[in-house]
Amino acid sequence: MMPFKELGIIEPILRALKEEKYTEPTSIQVKAIPLILKRNDVLGSAQTGTGKTAAFAIPILQHLFLARQQNNSPRKIKSLIVTPTRELAIQIAESFTTYGKFTGIKNTVVFGGVKQGAQTNALRNGVDVLVATPGRLLDLINQGFIRLNDVEYFVLDEADRMLDMGFINDIRKIIAKLPTKRQSLFFSATMPNNIVELSRKILRNPMKVDVSPISSTAETIKQYLYYTNKAHKKDLLIHILKDQKIDQALLFSRTKHGADKIDRNLKKQKINSAAIHGDKAQNQRQKVLAQFKTGEVRVLVATDIAARGIDIDKLKYVINYDMPNIAETYVHRIGRSGRAGEEGNAISLCEPEENAYIKDIEKLINQKIELVKENPYPQTEKPMTGKEKKEWEKEKQLRRQEYFTAKNKKQNRTSSSGFSKRSSGR
Ligand code: AMP
Repeated sequence: MMPFKELGIIEPILRALKEEKYTEPTSIQVKAIPLILKRNDVLGSAQTGTGKTAAFAIPILQHLFLARQQNNSPRKIKSLIVTPTRELAIQIAESFTTYGKFTGIKNTVVFGGVKQGAQTNALRNGVDVLVATPGRLLDLINQGFIRLNDVEYFVLDEADRMLDMGFINDIRKIIAKLPTKRQSLFFSATMPNNIVELSRKILRNPMKVDVSPISSTAETIKQYLYYTNKAHKKDLLIHILKDQKIDQALLFSRTKHGADKIDRNLKKQKINSAAIHGDKAQNQRQKVLAQFKTGEVRVLVATDIAARGIDIDKLKYVINYDMPNIAETYVHRIGRSGRAGEEGNAISLCEPEENAYIKDIEKLINQKIELVKENPYPQTEKPMTGKEKKEWEKEKQLRRQEYFTAKNKKQNRTSSSGFSKRSSGR
């Protein structure tokens, strides 16, 4: 067992880690912390749940603390962390506060979707570390509230997500505003070509740090699969949730609309649930998340993007209500449970049209997902063939046309007859 002390971490930070009851560093911490302390650029391949936030926050805090001991000048933004979602931004800032408790290093966080007043006030008071989402960061730079001229430590977090969410141009603009002399750390769960290319524009002679490649799902996570029909998913879910062992579950829905619908169905069955997605106000999301953490909410229904920043230490169940069509997304999702070595379970509901995704997933994780035989709603329907799908699309198009033609006719009749809409409806 390697203690934190052997990584070269200074006493004020060790004390904070002890208070947090971190007994030993995680694998990415063992690998990355000494490299970052030696001022290397780092290309880190790691998903959330591996302890990567502490892996960059601790050495940055240490650099900043030691520099302030030398020169106690007014605070300037010396470190910038850019991350894709507000939830992640808030959690990273909280990590800096926690690990930096005895260092006197100050941080603040800026993200969109809320008024900027509180954020600009915090900035005016002076901070050493700024955690930001790309859009709001650029906005505040353009308004003159933020300057990046003094940044010495730059972190790009969850780079793959950032590109998925269409932030590439924002990232380019941000990088252009950074001083060229700096230390840069780049983290991504996956490393496709476009990510490697982007990392080359940011990093100089980076050291590579690789923990649990994306294809290996945490060994502690048990995975179960139900094959069912689309129309039966909601009943199957209720059946699964009868198991009181599932005290808390994070449930994934592909769409926001779907998330709301699932949430309503659960509430109808008197199951404490809540939905979290991009259309919900930020304070609402924070509230729901807090309720989930305290156990008040049993099932949290989330879209992939909204769930990105959710970090619940003891989450034991993840439910895939929709199967993701990208295998990596499955690995991301189930990685939300079984964190830091805890027990985790992933339950997947697969409808005929999603059968093909299972093959991709099993190939990526290099294992078979356990089939649940005890299933009152087994899959009886078949996925459509390519030809059937085409015909169905044509059919849908036709029905839509008929619907609108009928509607138009009705409207024309109404307006020409001079009757009000209601009276013509009979
Ligand atoms: P992250 O991968 O940064 O999202 O961290 C995942 C979770 O692991 C967070 O809840 C951290 O508080 C926790 N964590 C990070 N490092 C350690 C550690 N060395 N020991 C125990 N828990 C940790």
